Amino acid sequence: MPLLEIKDLCVNIEGKEILKGLDLCVDAGQIHAIMGPNGSGKSTLAFVIAGHPKYQVTKGSITLDGQDVLAMHASKRARAGIFLAFQYPTAIPGVTVANFLRHALKAQGREVELKDFRKRVKEQLQSLKIEESFMSRYVNDGFSGGEKKRLEILQLAILRPKIAVLDETDSGLDIDALKIVAAGINAFAQDKSTGTILITHYQRLLDFVKPQAVHILAYGSMVASGGWEIVERLEKDGYEPFLPKQEATKS
Ligand code: ADP
Ligand code: MG
Repeated sequence: MPLLEIKDLCVNIEGKEILKGLDLCVDAGQIHAIMGPNGSGKSTLAFVIAGHPKYQVTKGSITLDGQDVLAMHASKRARAGIFLAFQYPTAIPGVTVANFLRHALKAQGREVELKDFRKRVKEQLQSLKIEESFMSRYVNDGFSGGEKKRLEILQLAILRPKIAVLDETDSGLDIDALKIVAAGINAFAQDKSTGTILITHYQRLLDFVKPQAVHILAYGSMVASGGWEIVERLEKDGYEPFLPKQEATKS
């Protein structure tokens, strides 16, 4: 059974159809990269998997380990092991990073002893090169772009979901931060019971994190799926050769 299976997914936002029959199948132990032009629906897909209420699913299915994901509220999806790293992480003034992480674990029914929690966080802070003082700062409040992205990876490492959807977690990072984030993703993906969906615009992340499959999302569905050859063609020729002819002439 696939870990995450999406079939014929159609999604509207404010009456406009954004996803138009999207299919995706991620097995345990796999990393899938999703690339695609701006506005093609990548973040929409990420939000719909996580259960954002603003999107209306009009058709299709999403299952996690065979369970109907669409029937679950966002909080239940998180408990079931779905994790989303936001393209634009939001600030939560008044909530410290430490409290946020402990509450997130508790909400998943995986409360840990304070001592163990501190130890785990400390190890992760070191590998992500995040200063310990961050734990007492408010979530994303005044964080730089790179710090926000590293905090997403810290959450990933602490929460250890079944499936991680990382929406442009590489964007806006300098090369050193990119390598740190990539190492965090690889460390997560080492657990072969998990799956990872990497939404990205750039080959440079994929130089450090090797996906088993690469997809191109355009006009609301997957227009190409394959392996590394897709990344190479994209670098060389851009999105144009992948786009359906009638759609390409429309835009
Ligand atoms: P991507 O992440 O691939 O750049 P998005 O999923 O963010 O694309 O957006 C896909 C399309 O959905 C875009 O045309 C965008 O303008 C539209 N869209 C996203 N959110 C909203 C919204 N709240 N209201 C109206 N249109 C939206
Ligand atoms: Mg996006």
